[in-house]
Amino acid sequence: MKITFLGTGTSQGIPIIGSTHPVCLSDNPKDKRLRCSAMITWGDNVFVIDCGPDFRQQMLRENVSKIDGILFTHEHTDHVIGLDDIRPFFYREKKDVSLYAEQRVFDALSSRFHYIFDSQNNYPGTPNVLTTVIDSNSAISLGNKKIQPIDIVHGNLPILGYRFDNLVYLTDVKKVPEHSFKYLKNIDILVVNALREEEHFSHFTLKEALAFIEKIKPRKAYLTHISHLLGFHDEVERNLPPNVHLAYDGLELELNENI
Ligand SMILES: [Zn+2]
Repeated sequence: MKITFLGTGTSQGIPIIGSTHPVCLSDNPKDKRLRCSAMITWGDNVFVIDCGPDFRQQMLRENVSKIDGILFTHEHTDHVIGLDDIRPFFYREKKDVSLYAEQRVFDALSSRFHYIFDSQNNYPGTPNVLTTVIDSNSAISLGNKKIQPIDIVHGNLPILGYRFDNLVYLTDVKKVPEHSFKYLKNIDILVVNALREEEHFSHFTLKEALAFIEKIKPRKAYLTHISHLLGFHDEVERNLPPNVHLAYDGLELELNENI
C-alpha cells in the first residue's frame, strides 16, 4: 500500500495569489503546496481522499488514469470543489464514480453540484456517481480492505478521518473525541494537520499536532494542511522530532501491507 500526497496546503494553497510573503516567494518546490488531498493505492486499487480545487492538476501530475473512488473528510470548498473533474474518469471507464461520505456531506455536494446528483435534468457530459453514505460506526470494504472512518472535530464541525491498515489520515482536526482513540493504536504512519504556530479555532497548531503525536505514538508522523505562516519547509523540518516530518506535494510513502 502506498500513500501519495496530492496536496499539503491549507485552503488558499501556497503561494497565495498576489502574496509577497517570503514563503510564498520561495523557489523550493517543497514550499509549493496545492490544496490538501491524498491518494492511497494498493494492487490495482486507487482511492483519493478529498477532491479540492487542484484535483485536475493533481491527477495530471501523478499520471492517474483511473480511480476506484473518492472518500470525503468534509464538505468545505478546499476539499470538494474539484468534483466536476471526475468527468474524464467517468468517460474513460464508462462506469459510475464511487463517492464515500457522510449524509451531511452528500447534502452539501448535492446543492453545489445539483447537475451531478439530480436524477433528472442531467445535461450532456454530466458524470454519474455512485454514492455510499458512511459513518464511523462501520468500516467500509474497498477492494480487499476494510477502511475505518474515524470521528474527529474541525472547529464546530464533526468530520471524518480514515484508517487504512496501519496508516491513519486525519486532516482539518482540532479535537479528537475520546471514542476515536480506539482506532489510533499501533499506527505505522500518521498523517495529521498542522496549520501554523498561532492559534486557530478549527485546525491544530504545530504544537497541538506534536502533542497529539506524542500521545498516540505512531512509528512516524507526517504533517499536512500547512499554511505559509508555518514557515519554510526546510527550516520547520529541521526542528521537528526525529519521527515527525513535514509532508510535501508529491511525497510517496510505502507501507508494508502485512505489518
Ligand atoms: Zn481544509
